[in-house]
Amino acid sequence: MSQGSKVSVMRAPHDAKARKRLTILGATGSIGRSTLDLVAHRPEAFEIVALTAQSSVAELAKAARQTNARLAVIGDKELFGELKALLAGTATRVAAGPDAVVAAAAEPADCVLAAIVGAAGLEPTFEAVRQGTRLALANKECLVSAGDVFMSAVAQAGTELLPVDSEHSAALQGLAGAEPESIETIVLTASGGPFRTWSAERLSRATPEEALRHPNWSMGAKITIDSATLMNKSLELIEAYHLFPVRADQLGIIVHPQSIVHCLVSYTDGSVLAQLSVPDMRTPIALALSWPRRMSTPTRRLDLVALGSLSFEAPDETRFPALRLGREALRAGGTAPAVLNAANEIAVEAFLKRGIGFCAIAEVAAGCLDAAGARGLIRTAARLSDILAVDAEARRLAQSLLSRYV
Ligand code: NAD
Ligand code: MG
Repeated sequence: MSQGSKVSVMRAPHDAKARKRLTILGATGSIGRSTLDLVAHRPEAFEIVALTAQSSVAELAKAARQTNARLAVIGDKELFGELKALLAGTATRVAAGPDAVVAAAAEPADCVLAAIVGAAGLEPTFEAVRQGTRLALANKECLVSAGDVFMSAVAQAGTELLPVDSEHSAALQGLAGAEPESIETIVLTASGGPFRTWSAERLSRATPEEALRHPNWSMGAKITIDSATLMNKSLELIEAYHLFPVRADQLGIIVHPQSIVHCLVSYTDGSVLAQLSVPDMRTPIALALSWPRRMSTPTRRLDLVALGSLSFEAPDETRFPALRLGREALRAGGTAPAVLNAANEIAVEAFLKRGIGFCAIAEVAAGCLDAAGARGLIRTAARLSDILAVDAEARRLAQSLLSRYV
């Protein structure tokens, strides 16, 4: 490099459209609210096409009013009248029911942010994929339960898929410009959750209140419990397997209690690229909305000197057996990850209702995965309807297993 010259940084293509037309599926959840916060931070950059929610009707109506959304959809049909009344006198159209949520995903938009929780997000998110525009994907269940089918749909529609999950957003950045054969490993970090240092005996007595107290992240209840069991990392391993050009044995998990480094990509030359940011989902959401550009966010800035040190440790699969299940489901192949996801959703719900203990969550999921083979539930899936059928059967199976693990 000659003296005085500078290394050139990527010039993002000029964004012709001043305002991005955005739909948010699951607008009242943790990810949905963070996205709306970014929209409020840059109102000139977005035009809200549609907002959806399942039952938080007042919050949905408020968000629709604030953003002048063209359409507001409530999943629970019973709440249609209430939504209509709350949005009377506005230009926002209203609709209700699961089919209306799916239809919202098909409204012409530049980007759909998919943030419905659980397998309930599959049909609306697949509908968004079919539109062939940008999909900012938070609903990891699409990749976990329906990975191959989902990625085929993405390829077929020419959809631009951008992960919102922080580890995968970090991987995307660490992988930018990489040749697949130069990638050695992709290591996802895990905070370790609220029970990282707890003994096995203490874990068996953990309550929902304790499990919901995540040390670093503020998230919806389901993913917070998954972060306590570390099942979330199993789900994320499957997610990464489908998103990135690596084999399952190139994916790793490392515990990093501060949640500052989100992912580490190692290359054949010995380089490791990491992405760092404070644990705030607005950063990965912003990247999914603005990629390949960057938009400003009102997040706290990272201060490494104030932090002093970052630490890393090996994950403990003995105290946290859910960590093994993602890899096992990938090895079993076919619909095994869909079975794992469905069983885990049933087990988490039972734990939150105090029907089973904390350690039983992973036991139910593992037990269901074992029993699924004998019932013919682990099979090849060619389309979304195959996945939904397995999901429903796996839920029934997991429900029947609950009584064994109270
Ligand atoms: P949440 O529980 O806070 O919100 C879920 C949203 O989905 C709400 O708007 C709710 O109204 C809607 N919803 C729930 N059930 C529905 C149904 N049956 N039909 C239609 N809509 C329904 O969840 P969250 O924490 O925001 O997570 C959303 C997704 O993002 C999940 O897949 C989660 O794994 C993923 N994710 C979340 C975070 C996070 O920080 N919260 C991080 C990474 C990934
Ligand atoms: Mg994550």
